[in-house]
Amino acid sequence: MREPPYAARCFRSDDSGSARTVGDVAGALQVESYDTTPLDGFPTRCHRSLSVPHESERLYAHACRVIPGGVNSPVRSWKAVGEHPLFLQRGRAAEVVDADGRAYLDFLGSWGALILGHAPPRVSAAVGHRAKSGTTFGAPTAGEVELARVLVDAVPSLEQVRLVSSGTEATMSALRLARAATGREAILKFAGCYHGHVDALLVRAGSGALTLGVPDSPGVPPSVTALTRTAEFNDVEGVRELLRARGGELAAVIVEPVAGNMGVVAPAPGFLEMLRAETSRAGSLLIFDEVITGFRVAWSGAQGRYGVTPDLTCLGKVIGGGLPLAAFGGSRALMEQLAPTGPVYQAGTLSGNPLAVTAGRTTLEIVREQPAAYDRLDSLGARAEELLRQALAAGGKSGCVNRVGSMLTLFFGVDTVRNHSEASRADTASFARFFHGMLAEGVYLPPSQFEAFFISLAHTEADIERLGRAARAVLAGR
Ligand code: PMP
Repeated sequence: MREPPYAARCFRSDDSGSARTVGDVAGALQVESYDTTPLDGFPTRCHRSLSVPHESERLYAHACRVIPGGVNSPVRSWKAVGEHPLFLQRGRAAEVVDADGRAYLDFLGSWGALILGHAPPRVSAAVGHRAKSGTTFGAPTAGEVELARVLVDAVPSLEQVRLVSSGTEATMSALRLARAATGREAILKFAGCYHGHVDALLVRAGSGALTLGVPDSPGVPPSVTALTRTAEFNDVEGVRELLRARGGELAAVIVEPVAGNMGVVAPAPGFLEMLRAETSRAGSLLIFDEVITGFRVAWSGAQGRYGVTPDLTCLGKVIGGGLPLAAFGGSRALMEQLAPTGPVYQAGTLSGNPLAVTAGRTTLEIVREQPAAYDRLDSLGARAEELLRQALAAGGKSGCVNRVGSMLTLFFGVDTVRNHSEASRADTASFARFFHGMLAEGVYLPPSQFEAFFISLAHTEADIERLGRAARAVLAGR
């Protein structure tokens, strides 16, 4: 069994839920490990040593026989960082535990879904309680109405929402609605933005497509993508010109208002405002894909944070509280064009699933109850940014840190990243080394240069300091 290239270290939660180092494997064998119930029969103790097979390797070998590439979503494969993935067995607050019982301070947060961190007790209890009364009916339930009410009240562009099960479904449905509402077929997206694996949107896409170098997937007919125009994110003048010349052909312009799938890239001053003005002038719809940014960069999303209101909004991740749930919405006039009130067909067996709705509602309730939750996320983010910058400088490494609120990316080898072409010049080999170094320090990062680190409300100031110390140690080459 092959050993991974990082040294094993074990961490243990103290009562406050934050992780602390308890030593190396030998040391960890002598300490109490987790007090929570073992999941899936995995051992709860740090037990790895040179003579003990690495459980993730064993699971991965099994997985590869029955699941393509051993994973159910490609970026999980760690292909971009040259390793096999760790299998995770559980998480609590800001910490995850791998199949061998080793704990890590987590900055992946299920790709941004976990604004409260892992297994917040109230959410877990609410989901457990709900499960006892039935998990799906294929009929309306009261919780859906309440979640929809929260979304509509919070997000400026929403008068009505429809709940779906994934971000991909949300963007796919929003596009269909935009095409139906405008009677136009073409759409515009931005290089490096990812909107799920919708055929028409897998063009110069970010996230896994960028990470794995497959920006245009086989199996997507050219006739479908022929209707997809692309432009450079943050190119205020170029896109203005394009929209003035060709905007009349476009059903919609879809954008991540803060790009998160080429690494984090904030909108340049005036970029979102220009998109709003020019789409209105051209009679095309502006779609904000807030699957990441919704309830992440502000309670009112990026549209609230930047004061630009789109026609349609896609939400996902945070609103599902860790269960599969997403949504799209806009004005009543637009949304009532959907079946059954209108002719635009859109449906889903598990849409508005009671368990997912319960997780989402409880999560949003907890966020709303926390005084200044978004100020706290911002200040943790600002400190992380500062420490990562200092670590780069102290290690004599070139790079930059992009951040909006609690989402940030450390890019290696580039001074600024404002768009896809600048992002694609980043030094992915340095990132891969950094990733493995951080793992050895007990810090779990997204396994690609082109993704965001996510900070949750479960992270403490001490966790952020630990991120900084680990980065400093790794970048200093210790
Ligand atoms: N839009 C954005 C901005 C995303 O980041 C993602 C997923 N990372 C999606 C859409 C697709 O969401 P899902 O994976 O739930 O289909």
